[in-house]
Amino acid sequence: MKARPAGAVPIPNWTYLRELDRCEERIISAVSRVLHSGRVILGQEVEAFEREFAAYVGSGLAVGLNSGTDAITMALLASGLKPGDEVITAPNTAVPTVSAIRQAGGFPVFVDVDPETLLIDPGKIASVITSQTRVIVPVHLYGQPADMERILSIARAENLEVVEDCAQAHGTRYKGKMVGTFGMIGAYSFYPTKPLGAYGDAGACVTSNDTAGAFLRAFREYGTKDGVALLERGMNSRLDELQAAILREKLCNLEAWLAERRRIADIYDGAFRGTTIRPVGRRLEAGSSRSHYVYVVRVAHDRDGIRRKLSALGIETRIHYPVPIHLMPGFAFMGYRKGAFPEAERAAGEILSLPIFPGMTQEEARETSDVLLGCIE
Ligand SMILES: *Cc1c(COP(=O)(O)O)cnc(C)c1O
Repeated sequence: MKARPAGAVPIPNWTYLRELDRCEERIISAVSRVLHSGRVILGQEVEAFEREFAAYVGSGLAVGLNSGTDAITMALLASGLKPGDEVITAPNTAVPTVSAIRQAGGFPVFVDVDPETLLIDPGKIASVITSQTRVIVPVHLYGQPADMERILSIARAENLEVVEDCAQAHGTRYKGKMVGTFGMIGAYSFYPTKPLGAYGDAGACVTSNDTAGAFLRAFREYGTKDGVALLERGMNSRLDELQAAILREKLCNLEAWLAERRRIADIYDGAFRGTTIRPVGRRLEAGSSRSHYVYVVRVAHDRDGIRRKLSALGIETRIHYPVPIHLMPGFAFMGYRKGAFPEAERAAGEILSLPIFPGMTQEEARETSDVLLGCIE
C-alpha cells in the first residue's frame, strides 16, 4: 500500500472552510448589509435572489423557502397531490425525498435504478403506475441528470405531473437546459453541503407555471397574500434574508466552483480507468453536465474494510446512502421486502463517496486515488 506520511493533514470528505477563505469579506459585508437594512424577513435579498436564481436556472420564477424538504413537499401540493395519491421515485435517494412525499400526504412507490448511474430506470416506471399515481419525482442523484426525455414522455402519456428533486444538482444540465426546468416544478435545497449551499437551512422551488408560483408564495406564508388567507392551509417556510444574501454572493461563484469539482472528478476518472474501481455514472450526451455533488465509486469487495483503512490514513469517505429507503424501519409500513430492488440494494453495499469540494487540491485528489488503489491491491 502506498504510504501516506505519518501525521499527514487529513483530507475531509467535504468542507466549506476553504471556499469561505476566498469569499469571507463579501459574505461578511452581505450579512452586514442585511442587518443594517432593518428588514430580516422577506425583503430585498430574498426577492433579488429569487430573480437571480430563476435567471441562472432559466426558469420563469423562483420561490425561496426554508429547506429542500419543504420545497419538495410544497411542489407536490402545488402539483395537486391529494392524500393517498401515489408518487413514484427511486429507493436509493436521501430520506428527505420520501419525508416530503409523506408530508404532502402522498404514498411513495419505488422503482429500481439503472446499475451504471443509480438513477431511476425509466423502463421500470410503467409497471408500477396505477389509477392512484399522480406524480413522478426523478432525483438527479449525485448531481447527474435523470433521463428526463423518457420520464416526460411517460408522464405525458399517463397524465402525471413531474416534480424534479434537484437538491444535489445545482448547475446540472440535461441536453442544453438546466434541471428543474423540465417538470412542472424543480425543488432545490441549499443545505450547506449542496453545490450551492447556505450557512444554515434554505431551499427553493423553480417553475414557469404562474399558478404554481402563486400557490408556493402563499403557502410559504401561512397560505396568505398581504395578510389574508387565500389557501385552506399553509405553513411558515420562508427563505430568510441573511441566507438569501449569502446565497447571492455564492451564486456568483457557482460556475467556478463547479469547474473545480469537475477538475477533481477528472483526476479521479483518469486514476481509476482500467482498474477494478468503477466510478458511478455514464458518459453524458451533448449539452448535459453534472454538478459532481459527490464522487461515488463502487468497490466490489470489502467496501467497509477499505473505508476503515482510508479513515486510518486520514482520508474521510461517506456513503450516499448506506440503506435503501424501503429497508428502513420507518418505511416498513410500505410493505417492501429485501430483494424488491436488487440494483439499489447491491449498490448500497458497494458505493463509496470520495472527498470532493471547492478548494480541494489536485494533490489531495491524486493522493486519495493512489491510497484507494493501494488499499485494493
Ligand atoms: C439534501 C436533499 C434533500 C433535502 O434538502 P434539505 O434542504 O436538507 O431539506 C432532498 N433530496 C435530496 C436528494 C437531497 O440530497
